[in-house]
Amino acid sequence: MRLNAPLQGLNTLAIEASAKFLIEIKKPSDVVDALELAKCNEWPVIFLGGGSNIVFTEDLDGMAMHCLLKGISAEQQGDDVLVTAQAGESWHGLVQYCLQQGYYGLENLSLIPGTVGAAPIQNIGAYGVELEQLVESVYGWDLNQQAWRTLSAEECQFSYRNSIFKQQLMYRFFITSVTLRLSLNDIPNISYGALQQHFKAAGIQSPTAQQVSEAVIAIRQSKLPDPTKLANVGSFFKNPIISQQQQQQLLSQFPDMVCYPQTDGRVKVAAGWLLEQAGWKGKKMGAVGMHDQQSLVLINYQQGDGKDVLDLAEAIEEDIAQRFSIELEIEPKIF
Ligand SMILES: Cc1cc2nc3c(=O)[nH]c(=O)nc-3n(C[C@H](O)[C@H](O)[C@H](O)COP(=O)(O)OP(=O)(O)OC[C@H]3O[C@@H](n4cnc5c(N)ncnc54)[C@H](O)[C@@H]3O)c2cc1C
Repeated sequence: MRLNAPLQGLNTLAIEASAKFLIEIKKPSDVVDALELAKCNEWPVIFLGGGSNIVFTEDLDGMAMHCLLKGISAEQQGDDVLVTAQAGESWHGLVQYCLQQGYYGLENLSLIPGTVGAAPIQNIGAYGVELEQLVESVYGWDLNQQAWRTLSAEECQFSYRNSIFKQQLMYRFFITSVTLRLSLNDIPNISYGALQQHFKAAGIQSPTAQQVSEAVIAIRQSKLPDPTKLANVGSFFKNPIISQQQQQQLLSQFPDMVCYPQTDGRVKVAAGWLLEQAGWKGKKMGAVGMHDQQSLVLINYQQGDGKDVLDLAEAIEEDIAQRFSIELEIEPKIF
């Protein structure tokens, strides 16, 4: 365990903060030992993966549990394969490993930063696929029940950028492994518009999963800043979901508004479009600002702190509410 440990290198926004106690979780029993220690000392606890979806606003007066659990195993079931990855594995590393083994389904989720253990927290999604479509179960330590527990995909209560781990089980469940149901059949999902355009332009009619992964990587690299070069946490706001009635009202004023119909009859609005319309693309406020190619990505340009980040987020939220009567919701977890 490290005392007063710096966290700047453990969050992709590169915010300077420290944890009174930082403990590395290298085997499942470390989870129980660390939580017991925190309980005895009444320390508040946070869980940390790759730090690509968190914002530190102050030093942590407690214990950060940094997940470094490693290992991947697979079990074939007919045309399916159940892949179990430990929570500290790199997400993109897992995607690449599965492709090499001929286990298909994860290709659209290539290059998402972070760890396997954090992937179910916000039900990561990209290019027409969400994690929930592939999860068989999630395993970990339940702090309420003081027991190891397997949650089925249904019990995880996944929805858009949400799960039970952000609701009832927030900070009550330390994920140690995730089991995914993948396929041995190479039939990729290319329903997403940007992928269809990519393959049309390349003259490829039936791409392989490997080609889909390469396309996703190429598209992401062309528009998303690399957090190792430009500190960021990806999309800073979720795409807001509005009623059809509000959509109609807005479309009469903003006919170009980018929207995606949802299965429940509501409509998801592209938050990036809202920010761009409102002139936030490339706009800086002090040490932080919105990326000049991707309006939704908040960048820490000059060692800004959590307050700088939240001030900018608040200014944007107010502006969007005023212009469009839409409430934005911050995607990363604020500490
Ligand atoms: C450039 C960039 C692009 C991105 N693109 C996407 C995208 O396309 N789609 C998408 O969905 N997200 C995207 N993200 C967000 C981010 O990559 C994901 O949310 C990722 O799953 C976070 O993983 P992490 O390990 O870094 O989690 P962290 O940031 O360390 O933690 C995130 C949350 O999970 C909790 N947590 C972490 N590990 C565990 C555990 N083992 N058990 C329980 N709780 C845990 C943390 O306490 C925190 O609340 C992007 C981020 C960046 C920087």
